[in-house]
Amino acid sequence: MIDGFYAVDYQVHSYCSHDGRASIAEQCARAVAIGLEEIGFSEHKDFDPSDPVVNHFDYEAYMQEIEKARREWGDRLKIRAGVEIDYQIWFEDQIGTYLDAHPFDFVIGSVHYVGGTMLMTPEYNRARTAEAAYRDYFKAVRDSVASGLFDILGHLEYANRRGVSAWGPYQTVRYRDALEDLLALVIAQGTVLEINTAGLHQNIGMTYPHADTVALYASMGGTRISIGSDAHHPDQLAHAYAQAVSIVRASGLSHICTFEHRQLLPVPLLPVTAFTAGPEES
Ligand SMILES: [Zn+2]
Repeated sequence: MIDGFYAVDYQVHSYCSHDGRASIAEQCARAVAIGLEEIGFSEHKDFDPSDPVVNHFDYEAYMQEIEKARREWGDRLKIRAGVEIDYQIWFEDQIGTYLDAHPFDFVIGSVHYVGGTMLMTPEYNRARTAEAAYRDYFKAVRDSVASGLFDILGHLEYANRRGVSAWGPYQTVRYRDALEDLLALVIAQGTVLEINTAGLHQNIGMTYPHADTVALYASMGGTRISIGSDAHHPDQLAHAYAQAVSIVRASGLSHICTFEHRQLLPVPLLPVTAFTAGPEES
């Protein structure tokens, strides 16, 4: 429990990701120490052959480490084996084939590149206005959701990581039409919307997506939220979890989503007193 709530982190990396800075065992030890009930590893899996780290992720080695961690920590911690796929439209077939052959507990689809260029870098921004920089990003995210390949939409509005320094403060209201169109599709597809707290430790001062966007999603009828810290190091695990929980609750939502074998398992977000008095405990 963290602040009395069932505590889950569903965006966690280890050395199985090219940029991870801890072992799976180290992340699990930290998870138990800070009171997480459940940890969802979301290792990077990329498909772009021009990316030097494209072959870093090793599915068999990953699953072996997960099994080992479950033997050691499984009585105190639910350990889920997920993946964060870097989505680019031209790899859709490859991603689908890969996911058919490699079972995971959950699959996050994330957009880091648009048109082959990393978001909001000078190279990306050169040919665009601020408006186009964001709208092209939202279009790519829309494509990722429309593909139907993913359980969770990863870090929506991640464009702000570099976008805010490049283009100034982000204004949800400016892109409201694009967001409404995207979120309507997210809801129709049943895709889970991730609240990623990395923006709070990257000094962007907002989660991905912004709390206003979560509220917009809920006002449109969306109910499926997951929470992740994007921890690449144990110090970042469950970062600002209580803040993410308050965003969920402020939007009038009462559950967060977890997964096993890609089956969605909603967990009530209730204060511990109500949670222990719930029907499952009686
Ligand atoms: Zn990511």
